[in-house]
Amino acid sequence: MSTDLRRENDELRHKLAELMERARYNERVLARFQKVELRLIGIVSFKELIEAILEDYREAFELDVVSLSLIDADYDLRRTLMDAEASPDEFPGLIMFDQDVFLSSLFGRHTQPVLGAFDPKRHARLFPGLKSSPASVAILPLTRWNQLVGSLNLGSVRSDRFVPGMATNFIEWLAAVASVCLENVANNERLKHIGLTDALTGVHNRRYFDQRLREEVDRALRKGYALSCLLVDLDHFKQVNDNHGHLIGDVVLREVAEQVKDQLRLSDAMARYGGEEFAVLLVQTDAVTAFAIAERIRESIASHPIRLADHRRLDITLSIGISTLKEELRGADIDAKARDLVGRADSALYRAKRNGRNRVVA
Ligand code: GH3
Ligand code: MG
Ligand code: MG
Repeated sequence: MSTDLRRENDELRHKLAELMERARYNERVLARFQKVELRLIGIVSFKELIEAILEDYREAFELDVVSLSLIDADYDLRRTLMDAEASPDEFPGLIMFDQDVFLSSLFGRHTQPVLGAFDPKRHARLFPGLKSSPASVAILPLTRWNQLVGSLNLGSVRSDRFVPGMATNFIEWLAAVASVCLENVANNERLKHIGLTDALTGVHNRRYFDQRLREEVDRALRKGYALSCLLVDLDHFKQVNDNHGHLIGDVVLREVAEQVKDQLRLSDAMARYGGEEFAVLLVQTDAVTAFAIAERIRESIASHPIRLADHRRLDITLSIGISTLKEELRGADIDAKARDLVGRADSALYRAKRNGRNRVVA
């Protein structure tokens, strides 16, 4: 064989080996992707899905940073996260936008992926809190039903990882899977939310309260936190219905629910416990503080008449019974302690009514 032919043969073998290596690499990436995809599709909670998108995508595709931005105009998603006892701040790679303005202008009219060198002026908002910026990024629109809902943001320290004009089918597929999974869990969480919400007042219902009560009693006892319970009952509410009609009664219930809720922290739990009765759990709150909060709620309702649509004003008062978790009940089971806590708040409420209403009794 001539030396020319031999050299050509060597070169071809070398090229073939390279192609084989690349094919094997792509196969490995695809296999990893399918594994991640299967996992994402199986997730039902919003919190877990966000964790998976941020972590699993980064690992599976050997990226240096992955972040996710979501447009959450009506706070729906943030509330869902709070309901799952997670705060959006827990995920440094999660960015919540109140409006779509920033992303819409980034992606342009045709909602195209953005690929190329990292530009701090345009991209820094999507990669917050990094010690060093990525060299190249792929910013992919997340859309559902032709609506921009957020972005999946991939970053690499390699400047040649994402360059303008490169094929994007694969990463667009990643974004599409993320979008579908996000919508799926959001719907799932919404359904859960509906099942635990009172339709008239929009606050939680008794089912939710009973679940939270168990959880909070358990947590308080394990961690040695104080826990207080309020039962709030409208005074002479039957007369409101009798004098003004049921519809006005409903308006009053909604208004009172909103006003009481406004006085609480996000970590507290409030529910409509019965017809015109609300239950509140004040976490990490001792008897003295609980009394002050209850008094503030009572005062606020008593001094702010409910405004009706026809400009009439209705004076409403309420009575509140308070109880605080007793640590000495050690040994009794969680359910018994929970029942005892609500039972004592109920007795206190009964006394508040008997002593003349519009008052707080502990
Ligand atoms: P007290 O000060 O002793 O609590 O007197 P009250 O009239 O508030 O208590 P009572 O338990 O006698 O009456 C509660 C009333 O609440 C009776 C019921 O018709 C009314 N109610 C319960 N649920 C609803 C509701 O969803 N909408 C309206 N409009 N009224 C309701
Ligand atoms: Mg009442
Ligand atoms: Mg009642």
